[in-house]
Amino acid sequence: MTTRRRFIFMIPASGAVLAAACSDQATPPAAAPDAAPAAAPMAAPPPPAPVPAAPPAAPESSGSAPMLDEADPAAVALGYVADTARADKTKYPNHADSQSCATCGLYQGTAGADAGPCPLFAGKQVAAQGWCASYVKKPA
Ligand code: SF4
Repeated sequence: MTTRRRFIFMIPASGAVLAAACSDQATPPAAAPDAAPAAAPMAAPPPPAPVPAAPPAAPESSGSAPMLDEADPAAVALGYVADTARADKTKYPNHADSQSCATCGLYQGTAGADAGPCPLFAGKQVAAQGWCASYVKKPA
């Protein structure tokens, strides 16, 4: 009698386990009465910290980047002057007063700006009327 009663009691639980095993595994199986409690779902990871907005681009002519000093060793090495008319024509015989940073292909300042970045002097601005030995005419 005890065995039959126990068997009848186990049928619903076994059916639930079988149904869950045959399902598409989308839902967790129902826990059997004597099964261990299901593990608690993993807590969602904390949301990522907000990424600060990129600082605004520095203005081309009056940004925070300091002007290149003619005495800077890199400037001296390339004969940079803030005014192309003061370029050392003896040392740089190919220099012409018509050449200036504003017409140089490496100059990154906006048209009409007094100064702008030059990749040869990262973090500094060069004068639009400046010049250095790396001058290369801006393509037309
Ligand atoms: Fe000016 Fe061109 Fe020399 Fe840069 S490379 S400093 S833009 S002349």
